[in-house]
Amino acid sequence: MKYQKIYDKNVQCEICPRKCKLAPNQSGFCYVRKNINGEVVPVSYGYNTGLAIDPIEKKPMYHFYPGSKVLSFGTLGCIMGCMFCQNWQTTKVNYPIENCQKNSPEQIVEIALQYGCSGVAFTYNDPIAFFEYATDTAKLCRENGLKTVAVTSGYINPEPAKEFFSLMDCANIDLKGFSEKFYAKNCLAHLQPVLDTIQYAVKETDCFVELTTLLIDGENNQFVEAECEWIKENLGDCVPLHFSAFFPRYKFSDRKPTNAETLYNARNIAKNYGLKYIYTGNIPDVESSTTYCKNCGEALIKRDGYNLIENNIQNGKCKFCGREQDGRF
Ligand code: SF4
Repeated sequence: MKYQKIYDKNVQCEICPRKCKLAPNQSGFCYVRKNINGEVVPVSYGYNTGLAIDPIEKKPMYHFYPGSKVLSFGTLGCIMGCMFCQNWQTTKVNYPIENCQKNSPEQIVEIALQYGCSGVAFTYNDPIAFFEYATDTAKLCRENGLKTVAVTSGYINPEPAKEFFSLMDCANIDLKGFSEKFYAKNCLAHLQPVLDTIQYAVKETDCFVELTTLLIDGENNQFVEAECEWIKENLGDCVPLHFSAFFPRYKFSDRKPTNAETLYNARNIAKNYGLKYIYTGNIPDVESSTTYCKNCGEALIKRDGYNLIENNIQNGKCKFCGREQDGRF
């Protein structure tokens, strides 16, 4: 059950930790789940803000079939309340649903196959907000040999997380800032449920996970050490970690874009903690976008933006030393 009845026609949504209590005709925080006649209805089901064919590197996923193409889509609304949302036009305001494109899960799978995509990505807004549309599409993808890719905040309750991650072949989960205060103030959410989801997905599912932290100067870059320490202790040293640059958007429109130095510093900190795969994002830099073999240190995959310029992984192994690599290749 994704909701429970409280009394009369009042219900409580069980998808994310907000557990919104909804009176008849009331919508939740995400604004796309609504109490209609005592049932929580996902009103964005079947609607998307457009389909695009993206390189998987754009999600970003660097260790999951590098160079492959995925059909990407998202819908409306979000379970998080990030002040720095980079897609706020469709997640934070009541964007008219009639401006959306309509595609059933069957049509999405058909289009992905028609255009030779290797998978479908649930992205642009958080698929937890469009749980049913994403999971129904994911089931059909599996039946048709397509991979499934989630780009998510990880803000989901343990029970729906089981279904969600069982249907995802890979996920990039945002770790928005390693501080409860940062999550409360700038995301209107909590850190601990995100950490629980990350641990669950990495340790107890077959979903391949990468992490992204969008760094904002003066807001969350001071928590990088604590984040790396937690990752090392709880996930090990082989979960790929992306430090991405923020651009001024939404309530943080008056801030400055992230300085490249901030990203390089974060990468150095992560290296000092012994993390093996650390990348910078949203800035052009081949060196910090390259995957190095954790065994012999040779450059395995060189990237220029979203393009691969060299790939030295053969049959999932380093071409130079033969060591099996972390990811799916
Ligand atoms: S998914 Fe939406 S309605 Fe459900 S608890 Fe989360 S924010 Fe509230």
